[in-house]
Amino acid sequence: MDIKANLEHIKNSFVNPACQLIAVSKTKPIGDLKAAYQAGIRDFGENKVQEIQAKQPELPADTRWHMIGHLQSNKIKYIAPFVHLIHGVDSFKLLKEIDKQGKKIDRVIPVLLQIHIAEEESKFGFDEVELEEMLASEEFKTLSHVKIRGLMGMATFTENQEQIRKEFRELKHLFEKLKNRPLPGFVQMEELSMGMSGDYQIAQEEGSTMVRIGSAIFGARNYSQG
Ligand SMILES: *Cc1c(COP(=O)(O)O)cnc(C)c1O
Repeated sequence: MDIKANLEHIKNSFVNPACQLIAVSKTKPIGDLKAAYQAGIRDFGENKVQEIQAKQPELPADTRWHMIGHLQSNKIKYIAPFVHLIHGVDSFKLLKEIDKQGKKIDRVIPVLLQIHIAEEESKFGFDEVELEEMLASEEFKTLSHVKIRGLMGMATFTENQEQIRKEFRELKHLFEKLKNRPLPGFVQMEELSMGMSGDYQIAQEEGSTMVRIGSAIFGARNYSQG
């Protein structure tokens, strides 16, 4: 895998050059991350707390670590001190736990709310009813150590480009709706994290500000080897 060449190719194929690239390095050896760092990447996405913890000390301090996977409450504390952005906040319960851990270490933790846009039930995320319930609750307004910086979503895994486009468009629509609504100061709709190796161009056409790209940079993942 020529990581540098892959990165160049991807950057050159961006529909929106201002869109931020997050290199999704889950399951990949540290040497691959170092190669991407050498090629100019500073933002890395991982989906397991243990892996992010193991890799974090191995890269320079200006590396930004994005937690993109499903996060368990009892593991927040391990990444709370350094994580740059938690993309997958999919319940009010989890958001409250992150707030609690932030309080403990006196750090405001930046997060994105994951919204369920795919057809697959297996994917995580708020549906609109759950989201509205949370936003309307008194408890929500009392949060003090989280900063909600935007939304994240994953489209259905399908060849149907129009289906994918429709789902991204729905997410963008929700993003704009929230942006134009009076919400507590710790909610700032700035980032829309959508798009992966197979659909980042569609996502950019639909307004993505951050794409999370793994296999197109580092090659296919082999889960049987961990
Ligand atoms: C693995 C993963 C990605 C990257 O997927 P690729 O198809 O390899 O680009 C992006 N987002 C999330 C949430 C992931 O888990």
